[in-house]
Amino acid sequence: MQRPVIIAGGGIGGLATALTLHQIGVPCIVFEPAREMRPLGVGINMQPNAVRELGDLGVTEEELDRVGLPAKEWALVGLNGNDIYSETRGRLAGYKWPQYAVHRGEFHMLLYRKLVERAGAESVRLGERVSGYRKNRDGSVSALVERADGSTSEANGALLIGADGIHSAVRAQMHPAQPPIHWGGAVMWRGTSWAKPIRSGSSFVGLGTHRQRMVFYPISHPDPKTGLSMINWIAEVTMDNQQGWKHSGWFREVPTREFAHHFRDWIWDWLDVPALIGKADTVFENPMIDRDPVPTWQDGPVALLGDAAHAMYPTGSNGGSQAIVDARVLGAAIVEHGASARALADYDAKLCGPVSQLVLRNRGAGPFGLLNLVDQRCGGTFENIDDVIPAAERAEFMAAYKRAAGFAIESLNKAPRTIAEGARAGKSYAF
Ligand SMILES: Cc1cc2nc3c(=O)[nH]c(=O)nc-3n(C[C@H](O)[C@H](O)[C@H](O)COP(=O)(O)OP(=O)(O)OC[C@H]3O[C@@H](n4cnc5c(N)ncnc54)[C@H](O)[C@@H]3O)c2cc1C
Repeated sequence: MQRPVIIAGGGIGGLATALTLHQIGVPCIVFEPAREMRPLGVGINMQPNAVRELGDLGVTEEELDRVGLPAKEWALVGLNGNDIYSETRGRLAGYKWPQYAVHRGEFHMLLYRKLVERAGAESVRLGERVSGYRKNRDGSVSALVERADGSTSEANGALLIGADGIHSAVRAQMHPAQPPIHWGGAVMWRGTSWAKPIRSGSSFVGLGTHRQRMVFYPISHPDPKTGLSMINWIAEVTMDNQQGWKHSGWFREVPTREFAHHFRDWIWDWLDVPALIGKADTVFENPMIDRDPVPTWQDGPVALLGDAAHAMYPTGSNGGSQAIVDARVLGAAIVEHGASARALADYDAKLCGPVSQLVLRNRGAGPFGLLNLVDQRCGGTFENIDDVIPAAERAEFMAAYKRAAGFAIESLNKAPRTIAEGARAGKSYAF
């Protein structure tokens, strides 16, 4: 009998895994607690390493253009409006693949529709959450499933992939002694507003200091009639975290009056932050949280993937991209070793160490670390950035980040496909 691979979680990581398994000929079932898939979330970046994998999965750039747009520039700007650093992105920077800034919800729905088209609606079980697992003597695994109506059942599979996000139940069982969620003191308010895109027309801008900043970028092509794009923005303030996070949830809708005062004076001739914030329909408050890395993402026939494995601060814009890369590296291991614990060990050995380092690097502000340096050296305000951080130091800082995050231009361009075209899962797949 061919047992399916069970995937806990139908987010970007879980769906990319299901599409990959379908591509290499391995049946799978996704369990997702949401009763219906809806386009939730705001902006998210797909780095070239992930866009490459999406292309190999048959997600075209034309489709990505409907849920986002190629990013052209990444820039850091000081409080007096002077540039700290800027660089081109995607193909303009020499990558073979673009970087996309997308609407998280619309992108998620694109993956969902693709999976349903290819594997059928029964490949995703909505309204069902995985609460834990049991490893069986024959090497298989049983996922413990809870339905929205309170009933429970078990699903037997060759493997269980825990792609169930930062609050992962699979990870909690695998690492029962893991510390609680880590919050470093930064609070983010996220929203979208229609406005004219600035600079290159598709620039990611980080503005301010490491204690208080505004990050914004368009996530839609401009409307041909109005010239307005949907601008994704994140207003962020770091506060004292000694008392821990005081609100009960990690995600809540808030009125702009709760935070807009922090940015009251952020008005320049090229940008009016209070106006941008004021135009948003809905704003969500999220503390910036992650989890301490764990020594392994594998427990026999069970593995963690995406945020369940490596929830990270969004400072490097690579949480979603890494989830897609995880899915593909896992797929490649299954091509080689079949849907077996050995494949999971191979996947774990390749990714757990380096990606855990990335989690810690993002905690140290990731590429925004340049803002910390500016702050330390001149208090955040300067006339000429070369007097504060020489150009070579700025360039090396960013190059080191890209190497760590797996999107250094040369090595990515030269790397062979993660999964060869037409590859199918190894023979040991069937029990
Ligand atoms: C609703 C939502 C909105 C988001 N909005 C943004 C955003 O605006 N910007 C941004 O940068 N990032 C956002 N993210 C996070 C971002 O999508 C992820 O960091 C990244 O894509 C990695 O995806 P993931 O699939 O590993 O995790 P997630 O995207 O968190 O997906 C995990 C999935 O697992 C499901 N799940 C949870 N518990 C269980 C369980 N016990 N059993 C089975 N399934 C379970 C969840 O419902 C969810 O669908 C959002 C995530 C979610 C869930």
